[in-house]
Formats: sequence, C-alpha cells, structure tokens
Amino acid sequence: MIVPTLNELVPSYIKGFDAYIPSKPDPELKKLFGCTRLYRLNNNENPLGPPPAAQEVLCRFHPPLAAVYPSGDSYYLREKLAEMHGLHPEQILVGNGANEVITFVIKAFCEAGDNIITADKTFAVYEWVAIFSGYEARLVPLKDLVFDDEGMLERIDGRTKIIFICNPNNPTGTYWNREKLCRFLDSIDGKQIVVVDEAYFEFVEKEDFPDGISLLDRYPNLVVFRTFSKMYGLAGLRIGYLAGNKDVVEIIRRACVVYSVNTLAQEAALRALDDREDHIRRTRNLLREEKDYLRRHLTALKLPFVINEGNFVMVKLPMSDTLAYRKLMGRGVMVRTMTGFRFPNYIRITIARHEAMEALVDGLKTIL
Ligand SMILES: *Cc1c(COP(=O)(O)O)cnc(C)c1O
Repeated sequence: MIVPTLNELVPSYIKGFDAYIPSKPDPELKKLFGCTRLYRLNNNENPLGPPPAAQEVLCRFHPPLAAVYPSGDSYYLREKLAEMHGLHPEQILVGNGANEVITFVIKAFCEAGDNIITADKTFAVYEWVAIFSGYEARLVPLKDLVFDDEGMLERIDGRTKIIFICNPNNPTGTYWNREKLCRFLDSIDGKQIVVVDEAYFEFVEKEDFPDGISLLDRYPNLVVFRTFSKMYGLAGLRIGYLAGNKDVVEIIRRACVVYSVNTLAQEAALRALDDREDHIRRTRNLLREEKDYLRRHLTALKLPFVINEGNFVMVKLPMSDTLAYRKLMGRGVMVRTMTGFRFPNYIRITIARHEAMEALVDGLKTIL
C-alpha cells in the first residue's frame, strides 16, 4: 500500500492559506501583558450584554435539557422572525452565527472555477471561505470608503455566482442607501445571488438606510444576513440567520448542517426579540454619546478617524498598528489591528461604556 505524504493530500488552495489565529482568553492576555483589567474593544460586542429577558432565560435554563438535541431548524425562532419580518418561516435559515450562513451560501452556489465578488476592505470571512473552499474571491477596492457599485459590476463574468455587500460596512461604517442598493440590484437583474450582510442593521438610525428584508419581494436573487451577535449581545452563543425567497432558501438549505444552533442560543434569541425595544434604545444612546466623546478627543489628539454607522470606529495612528496594539494592551485596552483588513496603521475600536472609552483615550495619549 502506498501512503501519500500529507503534502499530496492537501489541495493547492489550502496550501497557500494561513489559519486565522483568534485572540487568547482574558486571563492569559492579562498575564502576558501584565494588566489587571482588560477592556475588549476588538470584536464589536455590545457592552450592555443581551436584553434582560434573554439574560433571564439563560439563568433559568433547565440543565438536564443539555442532553437533548436542539430543534434542528430553529423552529420557533424561524416562526417568530417570519412574523416580525412579514415572511414565511421557510424564507429563513438560522445558523451558528452569521459566519456559518456565509459558508452555507457559498457551498450551495459555487463549484470549481466559480468566483464571488466583494470589497477589498470589508468583513474578511466572505473572501476567506471562498478561497479555502477553492473559489476565486474578486476584491473590488472601496471608493471613498464605500462599496464601489460600478467597479463590482465590471468584475462580473459568466462564473460569478455571489456578490457580498456589507451594509453598513465593517470597518468603515459607510452604507448604500435604498436608492443605490435598488439601482445595483436592478443592474444585476437576477443573474447572480446578491448577499446583503446587515450584521449592524439595528445600530443604524439613518432615514435612507435600506431594510434589505423588505426588498425580498422585488428581488428574487437577494439574500439578507442578520446576526444576534452584535446589537442583541449574544455573540458567545453563536446565532445568526439569513432571509431570502423560498426557492433560493430551499437551495441553500441543502448545503446546511442541521443541529448546529444550540438550544440556549435559540431560546435566548427568541426572548431577545421580545425584549428588544428598550435594549436597542439604550444601546443607541450609549453609542451616540461615546462617539461624540471620541470625536472630541481624537480631534484634540489630531488623529485622523472614521466614525460612521455601527458600534465601531477606526483611528489612524502615526505608528505601526501592531506596536500600538501591544502598548495599549499593557494599559488594559484591546483594539483590533487593521493591517489585516488592508488598512495599515489603523486600529478599529468597539464603542463601549464610558470608562472603557476613557481608558482608550488615556492610553492613546500616553503612547503617542
Ligand atoms: C460580526 C459580523 C458577522 C458575524 O457574526 P456572527 O453571527 O457572530 O457569526 C457577520 N458579518 C459582519 C459584517 C460582522 O461584522
């Protein structure tokens, strides 16, 4: 018997791909950087946690239920979401975070030789999943920090299957308004799947910001992503979903792993929706105040910044972002370095409670 060497077993597109290295747990980081408390401002989490009703359902979880498989298709959650969005439950697919539904869509529509199109400076998971699955990712540069509609249309060819638009965009916070999104979808005219990732939907207060789900009636090829990780504060439980037209979702469902969404996540998400209004108002108020605070202090420090929609901001530093990261970690503030997002020497900061924002500003003052 001939045993192939490991190298021979590995596809070429995996050979050239580096694994993503997640950050270490807090206690390890505190030891490593010698700090006693740590503000995590790197993952766009909600500092207020989940809505109170969702917290209560977590406290009351009946431990023996952990032995029982969850609903394989998030039955009640899909019913609730359908009612909320005026859809049929079959138009919704729940996943282990929006990250998982990205993989469902790519698996459902791409085969060898196909490509996807997205921006160069956006959420990187669309690009990564395409590449490590063996498909080409065509990255169109942002134009003035905004997704470039014309540029993306020009890159489409006969093998383009999916176009990913992050609205508002992580990390620039810029967005396409309703008119621009509709014009783009009209140009595509149903020939590709268009995914609009609305992970930060609930943070946006602008009048002209489009609710992608309300456009599903008009555009049969549209797929919209939402998540419970950001506004709803359930990132640790991993739950997100996509909405689309029945035909499209029926195809995507063939490429999805059932039972990937745990019982606690489903129950907490259900309750989070029931208790969302006050939670969303409190979160938006906090963001408005702390964005103002950062605008004032970053201006005084003469640091260029990008503050738009979403619960994050970007700051440009006159030093390497990895050096700034290490120095800020020493002061108990964890930010996201942005060189990996193709924004060299930028950091991205999650908007959090005032004491965390003060620690960040103090940290920036001392390291500059
Ligand atoms: C955080 C984020 C997600 C992933 O969310 P999960 O539901 O936690 O997997 C998806 N898209 C964007 C743009 C994000 O920032």
